[in-house]
Amino acid sequence: MSGNVLMKAIWPEPNLAFVSSAKIPNEYTKAWYFLVQGDRLAIHLDADEQWRPVNESEMGFFAKAELERHFLGFHGDVACFGVEVGDMPDVEFSGLRSLFGQMDNLMIDLAGRALQVSDWYRNHQYCGKCGARTEMHDNDRAMVCGTCRIFSYPRLSPSIIVLVHRGPEVLLARNHRFAEGMYSTLAGFVEPGESIEQTLVREVKEEVGINVNNLEYLGSQPWPFPNSLMLGFHAEYESGEIVLQEEEIADAGWFACNNLPNIPGKSAIARWLIDDYLEKIGIDG
Ligand SMILES: [Zn+2]
Repeated sequence: MSGNVLMKAIWPEPNLAFVSSAKIPNEYTKAWYFLVQGDRLAIHLDADEQWRPVNESEMGFFAKAELERHFLGFHGDVACFGVEVGDMPDVEFSGLRSLFGQMDNLMIDLAGRALQVSDWYRNHQYCGKCGARTEMHDNDRAMVCGTCRIFSYPRLSPSIIVLVHRGPEVLLARNHRFAEGMYSTLAGFVEPGESIEQTLVREVKEEVGINVNNLEYLGSQPWPFPNSLMLGFHAEYESGEIVLQEEEIADAGWFACNNLPNIPGKSAIARWLIDDYLEKIGIDG
């Protein structure tokens, strides 16, 4: 296997066929529409119960509910749109995360883009400085205040996510919000002025009271809930005993790699980090 982390079987291939753009093209023959209502996605399944976007010929049926249309870019020759829709009594909506099991990585990627762009657009209708109504920029993904010329671009919140390891054991924790019995890797947001490495060391110390070293960056995943970008690491245990940050962490512990608790499904970076470590030490995920 190649040394490039992105080529490892357990990490999804990067989607290099997608060319991002905010400017609606004059011509296209194929299109995918990702219908969004607030932070939820319209449930639209094919015969195999797999989620798929609405295509050009189907879009006519949904047109009367359309509120706002955002061009996301081209996937190959397919024009991709996020469409904010209003009331649609016959259509069910769901959060993206609960559809992970019915979507491949490409659809998670594109639907996540649609949700993030919609969220940004809804939340930047007024200038944050003077309160005037903003307008969409003609070519760029920006909302612009005509009075003070402030440009508001989509905001991303970088976060670290880390699997801490100690030989044949890994440190997993459960958040108060997790489903019963579910454990995962540690994660936390970058603070202003911090490097990613500083964030990682601080978050691990804050959440479970231990010190880590030998950080290894493995890859990233957009996490549109609503606007994170997860940067995934392995880190080696250095010193300290587990002390929980009780407001955030319900439980944490060292788990033998051949006897793990319930962990996230194969669509999430937490799982890629865990599977990658299992592979490193020669255990099948
Ligand atoms: Zn302004």
